[in-house]
Amino acid sequence: MVDDCIFCRIVKGEIPCTKIFEDELVLAFLDINPWSQGHSLVIPKAHFSRLEDCPGSVLAAVAEKLPLLTQALVQATDAQGFNLLNNNGRAAGQLVDHVHFHIIPRNQGDDIIQHAPQGEYPPGRMDALAAQIRSLIR
Ligand code: AMP
Ligand code: ZN
Repeated sequence: MVDDCIFCRIVKGEIPCTKIFEDELVLAFLDINPWSQGHSLVIPKAHFSRLEDCPGSVLAAVAEKLPLLTQALVQATDAQGFNLLNNNGRAAGQLVDHVHFHIIPRNQGDDIIQHAPQGEYPPGRMDALAAQIRSLIR
């Protein structure tokens, strides 16, 4: 637990949250500034800043609950779909440095998340980049 981490403080009960699920390892609660009705956050109770810091077993415990949680959220909000979002680093929009997954109920035409431009690679770059990435996965 990290003293100045807002999500650790929620886990400890020092800051209130609107809880939707809790077990030994995982907590899920409604986001305080929702992008859509039902926008929720799912977190491991243990503190890890970013996804790559988080042990696979902890991520597995979080992931295991996602079908249950997303199904309930979609049903409760009568949504047509949802996004699962995990921001890592300020450049990616991470404001709270305790790994978390956003579940964002979506409806056709809500325009909550704009579509990214479709980029392209110069000749040879795609293969070279994939080879570099493969060499780094150990
Ligand atoms: P991110 O930008 O991915 O780090 O997202 C952090 C999210 O945490 C934002 O969507 C905030 O609205 C949400 N948030 C921050 N403080 C609280 C809180 N006390 N209770 C619920 N959600 C919070
Ligand atoms: Zn924390």
